[in-house]
Amino acid sequence: MGALVHVTDERGRFLASALSSSASQIALRTISERQLSDDTSLLELLRERIRVSIHYRNTVVRDSNAYRVVFSEADGLPGVIVDRYNDVLTLQVLTQAMDRADLKQIVLNTLQEAFAATSIVERSEPRIRELEALPPLESRLVVGEKSSTHFTMNGLSFLFDSLAGQKSGAFLDQRENYAAAAQYAHGDALDVFCYHGGFALHLSRVCSSVTGADSSREALEVAERNERLNAGRLRVKEVQWLEANAFDLLKDYSSKKPPQQYDTIVLDPPAFAKSKRALDTAMRGYKEINLRALKMLRPGGILITNSCSHHVSETEFQHTLASAAVDAKRTVRILEKRMQAKDHPVLATIPETHYLKCFICYVA
Ligand code: SAH
Repeated sequence: MGALVHVTDERGRFLASALSSSASQIALRTISERQLSDDTSLLELLRERIRVSIHYRNTVVRDSNAYRVVFSEADGLPGVIVDRYNDVLTLQVLTQAMDRADLKQIVLNTLQEAFAATSIVERSEPRIRELEALPPLESRLVVGEKSSTHFTMNGLSFLFDSLAGQKSGAFLDQRENYAAAAQYAHGDALDVFCYHGGFALHLSRVCSSVTGADSSREALEVAERNERLNAGRLRVKEVQWLEANAFDLLKDYSSKKPPQQYDTIVLDPPAFAKSKRALDTAMRGYKEINLRALKMLRPGGILITNSCSHHVSETEFQHTLASAAVDAKRTVRILEKRMQAKDHPVLATIPETHYLKCFICYVA
């Protein structure tokens, strides 16, 4: 399981070194165009790749002490995801190869060298490990003693508790988009799918009222604690947190006579298209929420609309937005087409690495 193999063409010519998986649909993951002679050279390569990943973040992350340090294929390290939350790192190991004791140890050692006095928590998503026939792992501290901390983004503070709940941590990929959204946001704002309040709290600094809505009570509790953490600082104002199903909420608000009105609306749903098969339903979902939001915006309003589905391209997403605009009879000017934050690299050679679409629009 998880061996280093050499891939050749039918005539036996070397193509690439890869890591194998006996269970995944992705049987081989390229690790190098070079012929790695043995596991020792593989371990050296991993160490070097991690160092390069860290160096890259040191040059592109300016607004936060929380960011993705290693992002799997996008850093040439398939199956390894490392996030930094101030003085706590989280490590996810998601492939058979990276789950090998020797490989994992190299990852841990290299991280420890680079981030002294930082704790490391291993917490890998069981659903993804299952695809590799890897047993689920309890989240646990593997280095140091801290599992929870505070971190900052764009000056605001947020809580992080690595061992709390099913899904914890922040959507670090939206960090730059929070700041961009706040450049245009104004008036009464609604943040739909608000999770821990990333957009809502940034917007509260510039808007006159902000409501954050999410179906998860647990997420809203953290959002509220994040709000308290920033209260009275950086012009952060009170946010109304609302536990609601977004589809019901948008339907109710948009079909009121007259509709409930806002000057700024954020839509940041979970990935509706988790697979190619789910694409049709997903596109209907995107259309529905965008149409409702457009109906609710006052003239001159700002729509910040997102899709984090790998399977929905930027072009398809724009097409859906266009179709919602036509139905809502609104003129939508796209001010910015944004992606995930730079610590989630987009590789020219791997289009799949571009997954987050964030359009900031002016709605006349
Ligand atoms: N905007 C957030 C990330 C959103 S993640 C940020 O920047 O941090 C998606 C969120 O949608 C999750 O918090 C999840 O609880 C919520 N969610 C999923 N389905 C929902 C639904 N039908 N109605 C409302 N919220 C939903």
